[in-house]
Amino acid sequence: MAKVKGDIILDIEKCKGCELCAGACPQDALETSRQVNQKGYLYIVKVEDNCTGCTNCALVCPEGAITVYRQTTNSKEKVAEIKNVTNDITVTVKE
Ligand code: SF4
Ligand code: SF4
Repeated sequence: MAKVKGDIILDIEKCKGCELCAGACPQDALETSRQVNQKGYLYIVKVEDNCTGCTNCALVCPEGAITVYRQTTNSKEKVAEIKNVTNDITVTVKE
């Protein structure tokens, strides 16, 4: 079985710096940056290139700031996206 490589895209302007995602990441790939976003929050950044695309970070993020991708061979495929965070939350995870 091919090793799954993951990646995330983080919307730093949505981030409130709560660090839930960093605590949920089994790879320790996320840390709080020393920079603030436009709202004054220290936002999260990816510090290691070892993401497996497990989706933990996106699932715990209350702001819907993280989109997770998984890459197996040549393609990069979106597997998790959180929407409508101001009201009902829609979670889509592809196994
Ligand atoms: S998808 Fe999983 S491994 Fe990748 S950054 Fe998020 S929690 Fe960490
Ligand atoms: S869980 Fe979401 S809001 Fe909280 S630090 Fe991570 S990206 Fe930012």
